Amino acid sequence: MDFAFSPEQDELIRTLRGFARKELQPRSAHWDKSGEFPWEALRQMGELGLLGLRIPADHGGQDSDYLTFGIAMEEIARGDFACTYGLQLAGLAGEILGRSGSDEVKARWLPSTARGETIVALALTEPGVGSDAANLACRAEREGDGYAITGEKSGISLGMVAQAAIVFARTDPAGRARGVTAFLVPLDLPGVSRSPLRDMGTRAIGRAVLAFDRVRVPDAHRLGEEGTGFYQVMQGFDYNRVGIALACLGVAQVSLEETMGYVKERKAFGRALATFEGVSFPIAEAATQVDACRWLCYRALWLADRGQRHTKESAMTKWWAPRLAVDTIHQCLLFHGHYGYTDELPFEQRMRDVIGLEIGDGAAEVMKMVVARELMGRESLPY
Ligand SMILES: Cc1cc2nc3c(=O)[nH]c(=O)nc-3n(C[C@H](O)[C@H](O)[C@H](O)COP(=O)(O)OP(=O)(O)OC[C@H]3O[C@@H](n4cnc5c(N)ncnc54)[C@H](O)[C@@H]3O)c2cc1C
Repeated sequence: MDFAFSPEQDELIRTLRGFARKELQPRSAHWDKSGEFPWEALRQMGELGLLGLRIPADHGGQDSDYLTFGIAMEEIARGDFACTYGLQLAGLAGEILGRSGSDEVKARWLPSTARGETIVALALTEPGVGSDAANLACRAEREGDGYAITGEKSGISLGMVAQAAIVFARTDPAGRARGVTAFLVPLDLPGVSRSPLRDMGTRAIGRAVLAFDRVRVPDAHRLGEEGTGFYQVMQGFDYNRVGIALACLGVAQVSLEETMGYVKERKAFGRALATFEGVSFPIAEAATQVDACRWLCYRALWLADRGQRHTKESAMTKWWAPRLAVDTIHQCLLFHGHYGYTDELPFEQRMRDVIGLEIGDGAAEVMKMVVARELMGRESLPY
């Protein structure tokens, strides 16, 4: 066993920790309050090579390993949680378009996404289906040498600012999951409209409802063959769940570090708060759990980097880490007393931010269904 990062990864951690502290953290509350999308920060992340981590090298990316992607998610989250969505979606665009996109689509979207100039959203969830995504209703009908897409997608991260979206639509009404195909849809096409959702957290990422009214896309915009939307295009993205988990842990970790500093200074009953076991023990417990969860994340990515199955480990991290982060940040907020409850300190924003990923990319119950299936087989599934 080897628990060490490579020298390059150690260097990346040092660089990103400084970047997050200097460039992201001071502006995070402003982005939250204004709802303004941090384009400049995205471009800076592009310059640092972060957005191209999962984009093929011949299309402007780095083709890096999964562990490096996870480290980037964790470190960026320490500065601003919303910025990790840019990283996550650039990674997914790199993977999906890199594997299943036509040459035209790759050339148009991947280099600009790696530079932080364009965003490709992922549009799967609909007003009527989320957890049961294979039942989606959005349809793509053959029309001449392309398709006409009609339907509605809901809850789409970065949907208000993205220039394109990977849209999952039904090409076979009978096929359930096997009837779903993925398409790259530029969002400036006639027939596309978008409206914002007012979220409790990560307000800068502009989640949206996207509506498609007979939106025409050419064959070259189909990603993979018809009917492979779930079975090929979406396969192999377990790693992204671990990235989400590490982002949540990054926010929990920085909150713990700040709180440890505070309780050593702040006095009550003539003593530092840190000397009360009622304060130090919850911190010790949270630090233990954050550490354990982080190692599970690294192990999942280690498996991914070796091409080994990591579905179970990924789902484990995806239900555990967001919950753990919410609980840890909540405890940190409380240890700051009434100041913690104000928006002058970052804890209330961080709590609102991480709660979103108790739901996004698959709610905890769905993750536990995956873990149970991996452990006990399909007999454990309710469907
Ligand atoms: C911050 C955020 C970002 C998001 N970004 C995107 C995005 O970029 N693209 C995108 O396509 N979607 C996105 N989503 C949508 C997200 O993927 C869905 O919300 C999620 O899959 C759950 O679907 P739903 O909201 O329809 O809930 P439902 O499926 O209606 O579920 C509601 C509740 O019931 C539970 N439940 C459902 N089935 C079962 C079961 N069998 N057993 C036990 N419990 C069950 C769920 O766990 C959940 O708690 C985002 C959501 C959030 C909050």
